[in-house]
Amino acid sequence: MSDPGWFEEGARVAVLTAEPIGKPLDYRAPEGGCFSGAFVEVPLGPRKVLGVVWGRGAGDFDMAKLRSVIRVFDVAPMREELRDFLLRMADYTMTALPQVLRLATRAPGLGDPPGLRRIYRLGGDAPARMTDARTRVLEVLRDHGGAGFHLGELAHLAEVTPQVVKGLVKTGAVIEAEVPRDLPFPRLDPNLPGKALSQAQAQAADALRAGAGGYSTTLLKGVTGSGKTEVYLEAVAHCLAQGRQALVLLPEIALSSEFLARVEARFGALPGEWHSGVTQSERRRLWKACGSGDVQLVVGARSALFLPFRDLGLIVVDEEHDGSYKQEEGVLYNARDMAVLRASLASAQVVLASATPSLESWVNASAGKYARLDLGARFGTAEMPDMGAIDMREEALEAGSWIGPTLVSEVTRRIAEGQQSMLFLNRRGYAPVTICRACGHQIACDHCDARMVEHRFLKRLVCHQCGETKPIPTKCPSCEVEGKLAPVGPGVERLAEEVTRRFPDARLSVLSSDLFGSARALKETIVEIANGGADIIIGTQIVAKGHNFPKLTLVGVIDADLGLQGSDLRAAEKTFQLMRQVAGRAGRAEDKGVALLQTFQPEHPVIRAILGGDEEAFWAQEAAARQAQGVPPYGRMAGIILSGPDLQPLFDIGSQLARNDGALRRVGAQVFGPAPAPIARVRGRHRVRMLIKADKGAPLQAALKGWLKGLRLPNNARIAVDIDPQSFL
Ligand code: ADP
Ligand code: ZN
Repeated sequence: MSDPGWFEEGARVAVLTAEPIGKPLDYRAPEGGCFSGAFVEVPLGPRKVLGVVWGRGAGDFDMAKLRSVIRVFDVAPMREELRDFLLRMADYTMTALPQVLRLATRAPGLGDPPGLRRIYRLGGDAPARMTDARTRVLEVLRDHGGAGFHLGELAHLAEVTPQVVKGLVKTGAVIEAEVPRDLPFPRLDPNLPGKALSQAQAQAADALRAGAGGYSTTLLKGVTGSGKTEVYLEAVAHCLAQGRQALVLLPEIALSSEFLARVEARFGALPGEWHSGVTQSERRRLWKACGSGDVQLVVGARSALFLPFRDLGLIVVDEEHDGSYKQEEGVLYNARDMAVLRASLASAQVVLASATPSLESWVNASAGKYARLDLGARFGTAEMPDMGAIDMREEALEAGSWIGPTLVSEVTRRIAEGQQSMLFLNRRGYAPVTICRACGHQIACDHCDARMVEHRFLKRLVCHQCGETKPIPTKCPSCEVEGKLAPVGPGVERLAEEVTRRFPDARLSVLSSDLFGSARALKETIVEIANGGADIIIGTQIVAKGHNFPKLTLVGVIDADLGLQGSDLRAAEKTFQLMRQVAGRAGRAEDKGVALLQTFQPEHPVIRAILGGDEEAFWAQEAAARQAQGVPPYGRMAGIILSGPDLQPLFDIGSQLARNDGALRRVGAQVFGPAPAPIARVRGRHRVRMLIKADKGAPLQAALKGWLKGLRLPNNARIAVDIDPQSFL
């Protein structure tokens, strides 16, 4: 498609919208003409929708009947680099282009006129009379910083009527103010001095600076606490000094205040923030500033990858192995892989940082596709913790208890010495199963193929698949016998009960995402713990990430075998990563730490690898095993999920697809299934899975397209294609 870049008024232009039409539609360029890539408003049936001028119109629709673009928004046009990225991403993930475009146009109110807007933000005075509604308003304001909200948005988020907000304005607890729209971002100064780097850190920073200026990907590997963040901030400084923009992706952005503070300390001002906790007006402000070049550094969640940067020079993917980079709903993509794609189109540098890289990145680095930098030791005097197994076959464990005598005595000693212990169990709630001791029935979700998990704190049973809850019954729903229902197995809440029983005088803190009303409350607790406000910390996997607890010298893993069950091809890798990350919480200050893993299979190769500490050997072994099986990263995979209200039609379609696999066989790909998915029903919809395997070099997407062409689905059935699946649920 030839794209002249500028269209005179009346010219035929193709406009892509985020509506599910499939392809760009032709319009006439508006009065004053428009650029290629311009964000425009176009008529679509009776509606007006947002679109992007995608190039010269190619249709043969009668010019005289062509409708005109309504207006061009006053924002920078989408650059060819981003359009290219969206096209390639749509191709790679086998997603319709409009759906991908939607990811790149999440900026509400683009067309709003500039000028002043009225916002509501936190005032100084506490109101004399507090109500639940008032508390919620003040909480929302405290959670989201100083920028303030529109009245409607604030009322909606706090679930109150606008009158409640107005009432708080009268008391002085909330301030009503007129502010200019879209204030510019404060400038970051890349020339401020950073910390004095250790020799290893300085070498790594030099290597990153030397690699800047064009596309390259570097794996930055180093144990937790080795200073990866300090090093990549040097790359950010270099990028900003060149006048280009930088993006840092973080997995748990809601908990990232520590990181923001570090950026502010390093560059003298805060970066732009992009994640679901950011208000709509802040989103629009950042989105526009990306396009105009008025923001230098963005810290964000995976969706920040679709911002319209004017000149993106660097993308850092921190904790690059983290599972949350894979979006598992809507457009199925892995932000780490897409970051590499976008950078290659934008001539930008990529830094993938992790203590425990994904096998994919490790293999790419070994093969020389990525550069690799290693930070060997922890910064300063801190040392990595010693690791050991506790053989649970030899521990005398009382019924209904999960902490063995060895771990009990280790915790007891820490309490006496004024140090902290962390007990890790990756299971939310009180008990994973509720069973009837009379008939053996296990309480399951009505809509999913999943057992309900007791949450005693909420006093309810919860389905972790769909979120459905119900009261804990007193009699069995199956045999109707009263008083025989019993919890089986531990969740963190039940573990907390045991800790309280065993250590009645210890101060306990339970870190599980569902026990906190807001990200702010969770953040505050983390700060409290860091300041020594707890003796024992119980945590799910949110504790595995990033937080620095200087007094923590013992990590006890309650059930190290938990992740090894199941047939997930990444079970070993994920367990290894999680255990090493959790262990890395211990001994980050002067006092050396120890991590102890309770396991029934201490001779399991993965457990031995975790304990052995020879990480390179583990990755090499895991890589060899995957290569032998021809699975990722040595082979390609696609997951197919058929879902619908009725099971039989799904199997019929699946079987028919499996029989007509010519298009796949031609490229050497194999079909497995159909089979019921491990979670065979979610939200009342049945799920049937198929798996496609192919050689690494095979043109998988093209073959899949051919295979699925002309597929007709019965009413309400849906098909989702997951390229490079991460989970097999
Ligand atoms: P990582 O990202 O590898 O976990 P960080 O960059 O967070 O490591 O560093 C761990 C801790 O050590 C942080 O508190 C950091 O400020 C400190 N640190 C790392 N390098 C230096 C340095 N060169 N000078 C001073 N403090 C440092
Ligand atoms: Zn459910």
